[in-house]
Amino acid sequence: MILVLKPGTSRKDLNAVTAEIKRLGYAPHVMRGVARTVIGAIGDERRHATLEALAAWPQVESVTRIQKRYKLVSREAHPQNSTVTSRGAVIGGSKCVVMAGPCSVESERQLMTTAEAVAAAGATVLRGGAFKPRTSPYEFQGLGEKGLKLLAKARKATGLAVITELLSEDHVELVAEYADILQIGARNAQNFQLLVAAAKTGLPVLLKRGLSMKIEEWLLAGEYVLANGNPNLMFCERGIRTFETYTRNTLDLSTIPIVKRESHCPIVIDPSQGGGRADLVASFCKGAVAMGADALLIEVHPNPAEAWSDGAQQLSLQGFSQLMQDLQPFLKAAGRE
Ligand code: PEP
Ligand code: MN
Repeated sequence: MILVLKPGTSRKDLNAVTAEIKRLGYAPHVMRGVARTVIGAIGDERRHATLEALAAWPQVESVTRIQKRYKLVSREAHPQNSTVTSRGAVIGGSKCVVMAGPCSVESERQLMTTAEAVAAAGATVLRGGAFKPRTSPYEFQGLGEKGLKLLAKARKATGLAVITELLSEDHVELVAEYADILQIGARNAQNFQLLVAAAKTGLPVLLKRGLSMKIEEWLLAGEYVLANGNPNLMFCERGIRTFETYTRNTLDLSTIPIVKRESHCPIVIDPSQGGGRADLVASFCKGAVAMGADALLIEVHPNPAEAWSDGAQQLSLQGFSQLMQDLQPFLKAAGRE
């Protein structure tokens, strides 16, 4: 950390600051300038107590952190790309994995039809919400365990891995019994107890970006998963809140190169929540592939007009199959299969 002292700081006050720096486990290196004194505090900022509280000392003008706050998710800690494997699907490898399925599991027929169609079109992971985080308590909340059972049935019929969301710590045991990948939704992205409990299952975790979450906060939320012994983490950008109302959210594709630079964990793009409109999904997918996304999470429904949630953004089976074909040249150009 770098501490800048206020002009005119006395020798006695300087000594008090350096004594505190030492007490907290750092080695102070004092640089006396003409007007100001600067102290370089040398030590691992992630192992020792933070020096940020020193900013409140009357003789201190500023405290600046040098190291990143995240450690295990950082590329510094693990220079190679990590891969996350779930039943044959390798996320973060040479293939761009497609996870597809309805927003919510509604019925056996709806799920089976979708699962078979997305598998035939080339998806390797089936998505579907059994527990739904709805804005209004009067909207469909999901089928719960019945939905999980249908997902397991669809997995058996198609061989697709299953990703589904869990809303609270109470769901962890139940959802882990049926799911291959645990989805932590945008609204729970900083529910740290849920992150810890999900991590402890050892199952892969897909962590959505929160509605108003800074990239650093998102990486730190992911750090909870790795710090609790689970290396199988993926980040998923699904759009953030901005002033723009044309789209439901603003899909931030800039996170692809940024997360890739900062972290070794795979990055997934959800173009469906991203714009909230089916007619934007294909363009968002093409952009995501071109920018290096490791996987896409796409909502698909046999009859979007009658969907029980997120109807406006779901692709039809035909629309999904067309998209998979249209993505081919983009995948090829990006060096992905
Ligand atoms: C979803 O995937 O259907 C969903 C609710 O996602 P998010 O948490 O990104 O809103
Ligand atoms: Mn949805």
